[in-house]
Amino acid sequence: MKILLLGKSGQVGWELQRSLASLGSVIALDRQPSLGLNGDLTNLEALAATVGALKPDVIVNAAAYTAVDKAESEEALATRINAEAPGVLARQAAAIGAWLIHYSTDYVFDGSGETPWPEEAPTNPLSVYGRTKRDGETAIANSGALTIVLRTSWVYATRGQNFAKTMLRLAKERDSLNVVADQFGAPTGAELIADVTACIIRQIFSLADASHLAGTYHIAAAGETSWHGYAQFVLTYASSQGCTLKVPAEQVGAIRTEDYPAPALRPRNSRLNLAKLEKAFNLKMPPWQQGVQRMLDEIQL
Ligand code: NDP
Repeated sequence: MKILLLGKSGQVGWELQRSLASLGSVIALDRQPSLGLNGDLTNLEALAATVGALKPDVIVNAAAYTAVDKAESEEALATRINAEAPGVLARQAAAIGAWLIHYSTDYVFDGSGETPWPEEAPTNPLSVYGRTKRDGETAIANSGALTIVLRTSWVYATRGQNFAKTMLRLAKERDSLNVVADQFGAPTGAELIADVTACIIRQIFSLADASHLAGTYHIAAAGETSWHGYAQFVLTYASSQGCTLKVPAEQVGAIRTEDYPAPALRPRNSRLNLAKLEKAFNLKMPPWQQGVQRMLDEIQL
């Protein structure tokens, strides 16, 4: 199997390089041109030409414009990368009979209510980022290609910066720490997303006709918490491992979204219903604490 991976250096892309390797030959690109191939999602013509030249069996698109607040002032660029480029990839996939695996976000929803969002719930993004990701989904759906769109939430990876590392640093440096307590979701490891992606591809290609599996799925770790609960979990675990903190978990202040203003609005309810994914691919998502604890075991506490 030939797989074209875009966005190889991002949180999910990096983990995909590992998890896709066992499936076949992976051509992994980032935005830098490589061997005459283009993985820059702003260059739509060269992107289409790259897919046409490689003719992969599967395109996995982990590249995205993910700077949620900056997107408010860079709408054209975010639209190009999150909406137009996925449309190009999907139309090219349709032309060569390839599958497209693409990632989207809980930010396509407005965050109302308290129950986990099912895939078919109406989208109503609150931010430019959310709108561009929703428009990417629409472009893909209109392409006629066989596609899997995986909507996820609150992604972290061991590599690079993440919320847990920031909380640890602040709890060591500062005398007090306040964290938003009225947004709910599930921290989801890039490693889990990559492993599930590989599992999906394996299942699709084990069937003579997997077209009934095409569609949108929600993928996240199981369970839920708030950013405040997430921070407390991280600090409690760090303390249990002997890490000295100026702000212990029980002293982290709980604040409202309004108390932490940011350019882009965030959904309060980012809970995702996982039933469709678990049933279709015979999977059971692990509790969010499991992956976070593993990540904490891997970093310097
Ligand atoms: P990252 O920001 O870690 O990675 C995105 C990657 O896309 C980066 O490597 C970035 O490269 C690359 N990229 C940006 N612009 C371009 C471009 N013009 N051409 C090619 N590559 C480009 O994101 P994640 O791995 O966390 O996200 C993966 C997917 O999951 C995305 O679709 C995202 O929307 C979705 N998602 C993420 C969430 C999160 O919390 N992070 C939550 C929900 C969904 P560079 O580093 O050079 O900019």
